[in-house]
Amino acid sequence: MAVSDISLPLVDQVAVVTGASRGIGRATALTLAEQGATVVVNYARSSQAADEVVAKVEAMGRSAIALQADVSQEDQVDTLFKTVIEKYGRVDVLVNNAGITRDTLLMRMKPEDWNAVISLNLTGVFLCIKAVTKPMLKQRSGRIINVASVVGLMGNPGQANYSAAKAGILGLTKTVAKELSSRGVTVNAIAPGFIATDMTEDVATDEIIKHIPLGRLGTVDEVAGLIRFLAADPAAAYITGQTINVDGGMVMA
Ligand code: NAP
Repeated sequence: MAVSDISLPLVDQVAVVTGASRGIGRATALTLAEQGATVVVNYARSSQAADEVVAKVEAMGRSAIALQADVSQEDQVDTLFKTVIEKYGRVDVLVNNAGITRDTLLMRMKPEDWNAVISLNLTGVFLCIKAVTKPMLKQRSGRIINVASVVGLMGNPGQANYSAAKAGILGLTKTVAKELSSRGVTVNAIAPGFIATDMTEDVATDEIIKHIPLGRLGTVDEVAGLIRFLAADPAAAYITGQTINVDGGMVMA
């Protein structure tokens, strides 16, 4: 298979996508399943939406399971991955996608707003990575893809908590990439710009669109396509510790 072929099947691979009931996570679960993966659809509250993702995957002739877990909670993360390992015996791809916002200017930001966002968007990523480290090291293979954001690179008024968590993901990604590289596990971050989902429903103003060179919001499929590429073997096998933007040109290094 040519290295340039990014549509490599993920047959026999098990992919866990956190926050896969809606938005980018949902699109990611579906595209990984299209590539042949068995998909674990993690969700926090939207059980019906998660079941619908599972039904869509099964309609493709692939396997999926919906597993509820608040991934900011260590005990729930442990139970989630214990269930995955008991059922499938492996984890090949982890997509740390679950995330929330609690936007307000720093002056008004309550410690609860700070802690809620850091707990899920950063500590949750740490907890899930820690949970897959053992099985991936044992397998001597694995792909970890962390969903960061352009605001982790450039900051954004009203998002001190969110941008700190997303910037934290970038440092975490580089460190874990170095720690796991000798065992064939790659760890990368992606930095989406403004993507049309429930999260951006109220913030996607004309003013924001003016700052996007491609002149529009991104789609969940455009983000999922990058994640699918990073999960693919051998296409992305030599990429680790990187942050890859999918942002319509908002940030140009
Ligand atoms: P979204 O549409 O609001 O979906 C968020 C997902 O996260 C839902 O499936 C939700 O599940 C899940 N979730 C929330 N709290 C959770 C928890 N404690 N444990 C497990 N899952 C939880 O968001 P999105 O726009 O797709 O964003 C997905 C990721 O992309 C986030 O990390 C976000 O920061 C990042 N991102 C988004 C954009 C954008 O423009 N949309 C840009 C850059 C980065 P339930 O419905 O079950 O609660």
